[in-house]
Amino acid sequence: MNSTTDSMGGTATADGGAVPVPAVHAASVSRIFGAGRSPVQALRDVSLSVAAGEFVSLIGPSGCGKSTLMRLIADLDAPSSGTLSVFGKSARQARLDQDYGIAFQQAGLLPWRTVRGNIELPLQTHGAAPAARRARSDELLEMVGLSDFGGHYPDQLSGGMQQRVAIARSLAESPKLLLMDEPFGALDEMTREKMQNELVRICAETGCAVVFVTHSIPEAVFLSDRVVVMSPRPGEIREIVDITLGSAGARGAGLREEASFYEAIRTVREALHGAEPAAVRGAETR
Ligand code: ADP
Ligand code: MG
Repeated sequence: MNSTTDSMGGTATADGGAVPVPAVHAASVSRIFGAGRSPVQALRDVSLSVAAGEFVSLIGPSGCGKSTLMRLIADLDAPSSGTLSVFGKSARQARLDQDYGIAFQQAGLLPWRTVRGNIELPLQTHGAAPAARRARSDELLEMVGLSDFGGHYPDQLSGGMQQRVAIARSLAESPKLLLMDEPFGALDEMTREKMQNELVRICAETGCAVVFVTHSIPEAVFLSDRVVVMSPRPGEIREIVDITLGSAGARGAGLREEASFYEAIRTVREALHGAEPAAVRGAETR
């Protein structure tokens, strides 16, 4: 098919129809660590497209390459072969353009800056005026339920609150893509469910795409439009499970009680077990 790229970065097909640019597109991506005698193949031939506004989770046993894939998307590492694009650009260009927000397992806050100072950091780096920064951080503090804590320092907050600050910071520039690598891994179960509810609401409000790594099947099912099930190392995509539990806006806490939720969990668990039950040792099923 003949296609041309228009000025908006969208691709027009020969018949004039517009094909939306995916948030993330990976084509046959492999990553081999250590070129020497004992190379480790972390990823093999991973092909995946994440549409704009879509929530996609990666799930799989420890060491199957989930973080490696996230780091490739974020241009913190480069593929050994294959290609990656973010909103139709190279991963490098997307990083330079700050096209996404990142929230990884460690909140990674600057201890000498207040909560507000941490949230405003990306805005400050990009030269936003103080009044605009303040207005945005007010909005974000409210969104993550920390309006009373803007003047606190990270070490005065619980782990869950710190993680919420990190999420607020990742949203500061209203990214169209969020990269989240086990962002709730360190939280207790109650805080974790609350954060999941908040994330679903934030996604519905902002329409951003999310690539989300987790070990928890219920978490993946609750949050996602699609769950990508990976095999043990070398990480390959074993199966992609469509989750048809409704739009992010329609997903409330009550969803966790519904039969359709348990059904989806079972489907993902079966995909994860595959032919080798031992493969799921690194995954939680609670
Ligand atoms: P996951 O996030 O799914 O638990 P990772 O992506 O962190 O897995 O790691 C996948 C595999 O690649 C593991 O075997 C890990 O030891 C290896 N690996 C990751 N990063 C490096 C690196 N920088 N050098 C060598 N091996 C690495
Ligand atoms: Mg990891």
